[in-house]
Amino acid sequence: MKYTRILLKLSGEALEGAQGYGIDPKRLAGYAAEIKTIVDENVQVAIVIGGGNIFRGLQGSAEGVDRVQGDYMGMLATVINSMALQDALGKLGIRSKLLGGIAIDPICERMSRVRAIEYLEQGNVAIISGGTGNPYFTTDTASALRAVEIKADVILKGTRVEGVYNADPEKDPTATKYDTLSFEEAYEKGLKIMDLTAFTLCKENNLPIVVFNMNTPGNLKKVVKGEKVGTVVS
Ligand code: UDP
Repeated sequence: MKYTRILLKLSGEALEGAQGYGIDPKRLAGYAAEIKTIVDENVQVAIVIGGGNIFRGLQGSAEGVDRVQGDYMGMLATVINSMALQDALGKLGIRSKLLGGIAIDPICERMSRVRAIEYLEQGNVAIISGGTGNPYFTTDTASALRAVEIKADVILKGTRVEGVYNADPEKDPTATKYDTLSFEEAYEKGLKIMDLTAFTLCKENNLPIVVFNMNTPGNLKKVVKGEKVGTVVS
């Protein structure tokens, strides 16, 4: 395996699957099965999931909810998604620990780098929920922060497209995919890989990002093996 400790970032929206809202049990089970393929290879896996399928602070504030209050609601949404994933992993016999930027006794213990690394080394998947624990941030930023904290080799950003394109592949049929990009190129071309806070954290800490299609079975393992899948930003 090319990578031995990874941080997998999944968007909350992706969990909606075909339903278009909430958590699609089939999608969840599919993701758990993909994750199992790399856990079985003894890869240390940390996971950050978004909450956009349930609540986003910005959207809430557009509807009149106070921004900070809404952001905490969004952070709680990530805890719900993380619990769902923990359950799905458990059904496949995968042990995991739920940590978070916000602690919720007795379901989610406060994120600590030392404990997260300990759990990984013991063979648990570490699901790190609750974002950064602060409003005005995103789970992309949380994934960059957690990856740097736990000294992951890479962030694997699971999406529903094959990688990073020069235009939106879901809107523009002529869009072409990049196989590799430097942080500088990605920045100069204004490519939206992660928000700028997350992107900067990765760049400053030399943490590569692989953007790939998480909905294609087998892809996650290929990426971890270092096969030519997705777009590598480094
Ligand atoms: N959020 C936050 N701080 C964080 C991470 C997330 O306030 O560190 C809130 C924010 O309101 C965000 C919501 O949680 O809109 C859900 O996260 P995100 O939008 O990143 O989820 P995704 O788009 O990946 O599903």
